[in-house]
Amino acid sequence: MASFRTLDDLGDVRGKRALVRVDLNVPMQDGHVTDDTRFRATLPTVTELADRGAIVLLLAHFGRPKVPGPDFSLSRVTRPYEQVLGRPVRYVDWEVDQENVAMLQPGDVAILENTRFFGGEEKNDPAVAERFARLGDFYVNDAFSAAHRAHASTEGLARLLPAYAGRAMEAELKALEAALGNPERPVAAVVGGAKVSTKLDVLRNLVAKVDYLIIGGGMANTFLAARGIDVGKSLCEHDLRDTALEILDAADRANCTVHLPYDVVVAKEFAPNPPTRIANVHEVAADEMILDVGPAAVEALADAIKTCRTLVWNGPLGAFETSPFDKATVQLAQTAAALTQSGSLVSVAGGGDTVAALNHAGVADQFTFVSTAGGAFLEWMEGKALPGVEALKR
Ligand code: ADP
Ligand code: MG
Repeated sequence: MASFRTLDDLGDVRGKRALVRVDLNVPMQDGHVTDDTRFRATLPTVTELADRGAIVLLLAHFGRPKVPGPDFSLSRVTRPYEQVLGRPVRYVDWEVDQENVAMLQPGDVAILENTRFFGGEEKNDPAVAERFARLGDFYVNDAFSAAHRAHASTEGLARLLPAYAGRAMEAELKALEAALGNPERPVAAVVGGAKVSTKLDVLRNLVAKVDYLIIGGGMANTFLAARGIDVGKSLCEHDLRDTALEILDAADRANCTVHLPYDVVVAKEFAPNPPTRIANVHEVAADEMILDVGPAAVEALADAIKTCRTLVWNGPLGAFETSPFDKATVQLAQTAAALTQSGSLVSVAGGGDTVAALNHAGVADQFTFVSTAGGAFLEWMEGKALPGVEALKR
């Protein structure tokens, strides 16, 4: 990752003010944080900077405020964050920010109020970026999950102060680079999930980059139907027939082998534990739905990824939330995890439901890297440049 400065490139930071963009946008219910994953992701950077004697000023957004108000105040998360960090954390209101920041000592950590309380934050207004920049001596971006947005705190600010990638950002960029930037070949991609329409750009980008494209989930039905297969009552976007054929064509031209399921698990109703049967894709009845990839196809997919050095995964292979349609996803995830653990595969996965599926399979911590970045991860899978990342480049 030579094109980014990291915390290793910082000299003596004692007494210097670090403006650190983090993601503190945690889900809350009745005043309690229900998932502190995002807090924990900030700890390596915040702890390191504080230990090195910097004055750590955290910049973050919280929710989608139309106007500033107490419901969107980061003062709500200051105490919960302090507990996760295990050291005192101040809260700094924008009204009195200059005085409050001037009182902070080396090693202190403070959360600045919601960046989105400035209307210009989301418009990347230079005046807002300058207002942030006046508070700090250097800038650290540790919020990959917000890097797909060109906002004042994610993009504009990086252009006004010496800018560095934080530890979580650095780990994410390294993993993504290893998966699609400059991967060891052969590379396989698994793309699943409900609909082709939400992942057109992902598919178009991947066919040009990977050796094997494994298509599963509801979106496989659209590809099967485009090839003239009757998918019965399955979730299927029939209007995307031409698009699906174009993608298959592009894959052909790029020497990318596409795997579509040839056997599938079908049911007449979409409910927990209905009567099911395993069918060849050519034998789906008019009143049946394809809800998972079949066992013979999963076996073949496992064999395919055994020949690969790199795997990138977005989207479950079946309707995994509903038993028994989790089987293909769980089995392929466990194969990928075992290959990763044995050292033969680099495996990178991301996407809201994908993370849930890997947790359900019990293997999320056995992949090389699992991204919780959501929108930013998908835009990266689409091959798009992320403004917050571009701004960190030297
Ligand atoms: P991610 O959030 O990881 O990007 P998606 O949101 O694209 O994933 O897709 C996940 C959803 O796709 C899940 O809710 C799953 O139930 C659904 N799904 C997968 N396979 C099928 C199928 N064959 N029929 C209907 N829904 C499916
Ligand atoms: Mg989803």
